[in-house]
Amino acid sequence: MPAMGICEWIAAGRAIAEGQLTRYAEKAHFTDEFEQSLREMTGAKHALAVTSGTGALIAALAAAGIGPGDEVLVPAYTWMATATAPVMVGAVPILVDINETLTIDPEDIERKITPYTRAIIPVHMGNAPCDMDAIMAIAKKHGLIVIEDACQSVGVTYKGRALGSIGHLGALSFNKMKNLNIGEGGAVLTSDDQYFARARSYHDLGAMIRGHEDRYNEPAFIGVNMKVNEIQSAMAQVQLRKVLPMLERQRRRRASLAPILARSSQFQVTPHNDAESAISLTVLAPTREAAIALEDRKGIWNRLRDNSKHIYTNWEPIFAKRTFHPKMNPWAWAKREITYTPDMCARTLDILERTCVVNLGLKYPTCVMRRVAKGLAV
Ligand SMILES: *Cc1c(COP(=O)(O)O)cnc(C)c1O
Repeated sequence: MPAMGICEWIAAGRAIAEGQLTRYAEKAHFTDEFEQSLREMTGAKHALAVTSGTGALIAALAAAGIGPGDEVLVPAYTWMATATAPVMVGAVPILVDINETLTIDPEDIERKITPYTRAIIPVHMGNAPCDMDAIMAIAKKHGLIVIEDACQSVGVTYKGRALGSIGHLGALSFNKMKNLNIGEGGAVLTSDDQYFARARSYHDLGAMIRGHEDRYNEPAFIGVNMKVNEIQSAMAQVQLRKVLPMLERQRRRRASLAPILARSSQFQVTPHNDAESAISLTVLAPTREAAIALEDRKGIWNRLRDNSKHIYTNWEPIFAKRTFHPKMNPWAWAKREITYTPDMCARTLDILERTCVVNLGLKYPTCVMRRVAKGLAV
């Protein structure tokens, strides 16, 4: 995540001084400008700023008309919000294994498709893109909607296209842990006019008193309020300019370290769905014990296994199928009995047990990190 600095502080101050704090105030402009920058960065026809990545996922699902009776495929390794978002629109999440790339396994997607499957949410984990060619082909074959969860990979590309702009819809997060950080925030991307109109309507309580809704002839339906304020957008605009340079530094550092680590006989560098523009760097050990031994050499890597709410076995409310009201329970509306068990995605657990995330050490000179990598790649 890029550092927060004086420029964000000034931008926030400008928004406050202008005094048009809600995005639909007559003279407000920061949010429109930020959305324009998002469109330019991603190539998506539409971008809608919302208050979180979770909100972006829910708005995207609502825009696509996903609801009760529908099954949505999500990876077993992701931030829990990917699995809870379908529940919020009345659908149920179906867990899919990841493969060695740490992203959803296209082969397991095929196995998990039922007559009730409506959508897939591929998650680009920690800047590692999913196998989007395979996923889009499967979706086309089965008539499924693809909502990319690009919350952990804002600004990253797959074969030259921005993540979040490849599927029918995409969700971004601007939470403090993400590539673009304003504390909390998010955005929906789509190139489909009707999905955009529906997402915008949903995020603004139906938006029926705003002139812009007429254009797409979408009757107002009940929504929520996840509109951003102008202070957030002013800060986000500054942060956005820092994202691509930051990713480029990471990409160069990764390109310099990965070939060194690849010489090791004790582990392999994790395969990548777009090796040429790779940013994430993780290594895969042959066994859990070997991974633990690697982890003991502290400082440069950590095992993924410790990642609490990123692992399906820790999604307690999903396992319990517990919602805020017993009658508002999508599992009761599902077309078949859905059960979740701790061993249902054993392959995911095995891969996570054996994977270590490599710290790119951006605070240190490249030569130092190269020497560290050489010492480890024995
Ligand atoms: C962070 C994250 C979200 C949710 O984003 P928030 O802005 O925290 O609501 C969803 N999916 C993934 C993969 C994330 O990492």
